[in-house]
This record gives sequence, C-alpha cells and structure tokens, in this order.
Amino acid sequence: MNEIIVFTHSDCLLKDNGPNHPERKERLQTVLRSIKEATNIVADIKDAPLVNLDNVFLVHPKKYIKKIFSLIPHSGLIGVEKEPYADTFLCPNSKNAILRSCGAGIAAVDSLIKNNRKRLFCAVRPPGHHAETERANGFCFINNVAVTARYLQKKFHIRKIAIIDFDVHHGNGTQEIFFQDKTVVYGSIHEFPLFPGTGLEKETGVGNIFNAPIVAGTQGKGYIKIFEEKILDNIDKFKPEIILVSAGFDAHKRDPLAHINLESENYYEITKKIVEIANIHSQGRVISFLEGGYDLPALSESIKEHCLGLVKN
Ligand SMILES: [Zn+2]
Repeated sequence: MNEIIVFTHSDCLLKDNGPNHPERKERLQTVLRSIKEATNIVADIKDAPLVNLDNVFLVHPKKYIKKIFSLIPHSGLIGVEKEPYADTFLCPNSKNAILRSCGAGIAAVDSLIKNNRKRLFCAVRPPGHHAETERANGFCFINNVAVTARYLQKKFHIRKIAIIDFDVHHGNGTQEIFFQDKTVVYGSIHEFPLFPGTGLEKETGVGNIFNAPIVAGTQGKGYIKIFEEKILDNIDKFKPEIILVSAGFDAHKRDPLAHINLESENYYEITKKIVEIANIHSQGRVISFLEGGYDLPALSESIKEHCLGLVKN
C-alpha cells in the first residue's frame, strides 16, 4: 500500500496575506509539487469541496463565522487580530479558501469511511490549529482538524478520537475546543516559550490534553524521545478509533519561525510512530492536515518524508 489520498483545491492558493508574509501560496505549491514528484508515493489528488456550514457549526458558533465572513474586504487586506500578533489577514478570496480547507477534512472522512481509505492528507491553507471556538489567530480562522473530529462523531458515531499535533507551535485552538471533552485526546509537542504562549504541561483539560513543551535548540533524537514519552504513550493508552494529525513542518532546523532542529528525515520517523499506533488501535486510519512549515526547501523534503511515513507503515 503506497497510495495516499490528497485533498486540496486551487482556491487555497488564492488566500493572500500580503508581501513578506510567511504563510504564502508557494508553501502549498511546494507541497503539491513535492508529493507529485515523489517516486515512492502514489498520490491520488482530489478536489476538496466547500464545507457545508452546518459542519463548521459543530465547532464554531454561527455568529462567529458570520462575523469573519462579514470582515472580508473587497480589496486589500484586513487584519483580524490585535497587536502584538497582527498577522492574521483576510483578503478578497479568503472565503472559499477557508471553506475548502475545512471541506478537505470532511471529504477525507467520507473517503475513509465509505471507501475504506486509510491514509489521507489534506494539503490546504489557511491552516487551522490556532483557531479557537470564537477567535481567529495565528493565520487560522476555522479549526479544520476540530471540525473533522466533530463530523466523525456526529455523522459516523466515532467516539474516541486522538489528535496529534507536531507543528512547532502549540495548537491553542484545538486545545481550547476539546479542553472539557474526554472523547477527544489532544497531544501536542511544541517549542516553548513561543507563540501562542499556551501548551504548558500542567494544561491537562479533563485528563485528555497532553502537552510536551520543548526548549529552543532541541535536536531530533531528544525530540523523538520526548514525543514518545509525553505524547505517544498516552495516545496508545487511550486506544483511539482514528488518529488525526496536525502536521506542521516548522520544527525543521531551517524554519524561520522557530528554533527546533529537526532534520527532514525525522518527519518519517515521527509519522511512522504515529501510524504504528493507528495500526494497533485505529484500523490504520490516519487523516493528516497541513498546518505550518515556512522554509520551502525544508517543507518540500519534509512533506515527502511525512507522506512516505503514512503509506509505508
Ligand atoms: Zn506552526
């Protein structure tokens, strides 16, 4: 089994954050080119649909979504955050990019349940893991992985869901959304201190949140040891029915937004370990979502390692 199903859409390339912004369309172009070029991966690339808003409302209130869409400008950019992190922008083409990014997760679920697909990747932007119930931040508006988890529960009655987040930033949004919910276990390894400033080990929710903050300068070997001990061992104990992954590649040593020193190959190992748990407890079912990763050559290499880790194990 070397096939991965990839959901993406050209609308996701139209999200514009202005010049010199790290979250740019070239990221997604790089990811897709890299997946297509990889000779050891068979990628079935499909169009992500626009998400049905009823699914978004499983996580975000109507009034919040209405407000976000009402802020979309006819020209130029509008920031939705206050200082010091005023870097989350809406542009005229934001709406469909946001709806396709979330729709990718929904389509991945349908493909997984109905067609018995096991390894799926949502190559989307904007990312989602910083989006809280009623707060856009960190380049995120709708929490794609959280909506996917709720959709799995609502439509397919899957109860025990694990979300593993190896983006270098803490997924404050995902943590906030599931903080009181034992049916979803969230495990995040992230640089600390760093944006968004959450993700201390003592933030445990109702025993369903596992945070592994790591210091700047952490190398691959030390990273993977902490990842196993603080995150994977707990996910293993939870025995999830499916694993969702917030896959950011900004813990790479060349990433400009953080200071962790992973090599591209480390993403194969990280992914392999996630898939091994999915094979034991979750019928091998993994849906991964692109979050961050801002150095294009590093992203190109890392995404290949991640996808290979998904299909080879
Ligand atoms: Zn990140």
